[in-house]
Amino acid sequence: MPITNETHDPKLRSWVESANGGSTDFPIQNLPFAVFRRQGSNQAWRGGVAIGAHIVDMAAAVAAGVFEGAALAPAHAATESTLNHLMRLGQPASAALRLALSRVLRTGAAQQAALQACLVPQAEAEYAVPAHIGDYTDFYTSIHHATNIGKQFRPDSPLLPNYQWVPIGYHGRSSSIGVSGQAFHRPHGQVMAPSAAAPTLQPCARLDIELEMGVFIGAPNALGEPVGMTQAPDHIFGLVLFNDWSARDIQGWEYQPLGPFLSKNFASTISPWIVTWEALAPFRTAFAHPAGDPQPLPYLNHPDNAAEGALNIELQALIQTPAMRQAGTAPARLCQTNYRHAYWTAAQMVAHHTVGGCNLQAGDLLGTGTLSGPTLDSACALIELTEGGKRPVQLPGGEQRTWLQDGDTVVLRGWCEKAGAARIGFGECVGTVLPAKSALHID
Ligand code: CA
Repeated sequence: MPITNETHDPKLRSWVESANGGSTDFPIQNLPFAVFRRQGSNQAWRGGVAIGAHIVDMAAAVAAGVFEGAALAPAHAATESTLNHLMRLGQPASAALRLALSRVLRTGAAQQAALQACLVPQAEAEYAVPAHIGDYTDFYTSIHHATNIGKQFRPDSPLLPNYQWVPIGYHGRSSSIGVSGQAFHRPHGQVMAPSAAAPTLQPCARLDIELEMGVFIGAPNALGEPVGMTQAPDHIFGLVLFNDWSARDIQGWEYQPLGPFLSKNFASTISPWIVTWEALAPFRTAFAHPAGDPQPLPYLNHPDNAAEGALNIELQALIQTPAMRQAGTAPARLCQTNYRHAYWTAAQMVAHHTVGGCNLQAGDLLGTGTLSGPTLDSACALIELTEGGKRPVQLPGGEQRTWLQDGDTVVLRGWCEKAGAARIGFGECVGTVLPAKSALHID
């Protein structure tokens, strides 16, 4: 099945000049969706599509009558205050809308005059979480992360025997997922000091990042109806950057036997723009478990997954401390990795999640888990980068970090590039740590 089409043509140019030239995350080949309104306004939230430095206001564009035919229903769905309806329509509808958007935004399009009035500068916009996220599931798909973490929690058996057979995950918390720009208070929780007789309730002292991707589900499956590997990719709407903030000291005490709880449920941050599964088509790449590892069971195996199940997405996490911000120092890189290193693909997450009959719904979010790569500088959490707090990260201006401090801002970036395709990006996922609320307020 051909996975690219005229919308991916690297030669396409837009009449929106800022979309051209190769340096923007949002050329005409990307066309990601967000929910936005004008900054500081009381306007209704509605869907938008990124083009260069601008947003196509979908409510205005539909009102201007630029969509027709198969694109009309998904275009209407994209005017709503969440994208769940658009997601639920499935990939054929999204594809029809993408094709229409590509054509009306191209240089020479007859709709330029009508659409020009529907553009909002991204610099003048604010964003909302783009979907009602009914359920959030966090996977653990980097074997490098699982091994690095396992070494610290269980030095004798870092990688548990199920890892190479089961896409490990747990059901997380969706209510505390926020959009880029989120600021959250350092959480309190139970912490058990190594030599203490009893745990204490205290602010987290080992606050960490997790650089992940979030996979938004599009077309749902019915309860009791598993999604096989053939159909699994058709249920994916698109991907965002995802920072799954983690409280390591709380995690270390609470995680057995049922897994993380308060250490993960206080905040998670996503980037506003959902890059569609279709936009990522040129960057799909071969997937395999290393020779000698167990091969996926048949329900997790498919020739298409082997040929193009992985995604070549370059990912970065950066930090800006309050001192750096005051000195005007740009965020400094903590790590760089690539999604293609994951041990389980997005399609395998969908197939495994549903094999017992669980129904995924439009707008559900699947976290990939921390996407650490094979080298130390591609480890994507401070617990790995600092070897459990033993080796601080050096920052510009002579500062160090073992764990996040109050006022620290973490920025995630992601992009795809390869010869013969237009470079596309995910924008940014930004979050800031606020001081813990006073414990005196907890009765
Ligand atoms: Ca996580």
